[in-house]
Amino acid sequence: MNPSTTTNIETAASLISNAEAVLIYAGAGMSVDSGLEQYRGKDGLWTRYLDIDGHQIKYMDLMTHMAFDETPEQAWALAASLMKKYEETMPHQGYGQLLDLLKNKDYFVMTSNCDHQFQKAGFDPNKIYECHGSLRYMQCMDILERDTWLTPKIEVDSVKFEVKELPKCPTCGAYCRPNIYLFGDWFWVSTRSTYQLIEYINWTKEATTKYANIIAIEIGAGNTIATIRQASEKFVEDKYPLIRINPNDCLVKQPNHMGIDMGAKHAIEEISTLVQGTFS
Ligand SMILES: [Zn+2]
Repeated sequence: MNPSTTTNIETAASLISNAEAVLIYAGAGMSVDSGLEQYRGKDGLWTRYLDIDGHQIKYMDLMTHMAFDETPEQAWALAASLMKKYEETMPHQGYGQLLDLLKNKDYFVMTSNCDHQFQKAGFDPNKIYECHGSLRYMQCMDILERDTWLTPKIEVDSVKFEVKELPKCPTCGAYCRPNIYLFGDWFWVSTRSTYQLIEYINWTKEATTKYANIIAIEIGAGNTIATIRQASEKFVEDKYPLIRINPNDCLVKQPNHMGIDMGAKHAIEEISTLVQGTFS
């Protein structure tokens, strides 16, 4: 480990120990360590064909609004396969260690991941803003309907790679699509995400008036889709410390910000060990 990384881990451990409130900003790199692939980036899901039960499936061809309209059986087969993978995947130990670090502190999580891993690891569902939605939820293909529903369990015919029965809208009976922000998506019903966004805004307003020691930890958020990075930088500016954890591109712009050039799980483990040993 290079000396500046060691120093930054020590500073991060101290900042977290003293913080009253922590904002977590998590991107795909947090999920990668659980074995879940990233969508974007040069090796992301979207660039590749996936081998699902022997079928070569191109992610980009099926995860679009048009695909759910024109070939819903195949599009849902891919969505259902991903849902199954998310359901079966246990969050890596970094989630639990992070939650332990937040014990007795106020916190909020913003994530672009739609895999439900934070909720599964025990984070308060009322303190999570999923800015790109969640694969657990679906919306009507008629986007004038603004409701979302939990997606039912969907059986996939693995020989044909299509679903046996398409999920239908409880209100009008039309077909549905996942409530996640898809590629070039003008049809995403953002109601649920916007509600979470309002909670996030309210939390930041309250926390910044209530607490003196607020920090942000940004984990596994790359530059390719910079939604998470932009949000963390917009919140902290030069007012609050930012701990940026990312194996690549972890440069920071302000003197009270620091980069830890490691993967999510490893970095959280190092910080957690230090906090347990030094500050508890
Ligand atoms: Zn409907």
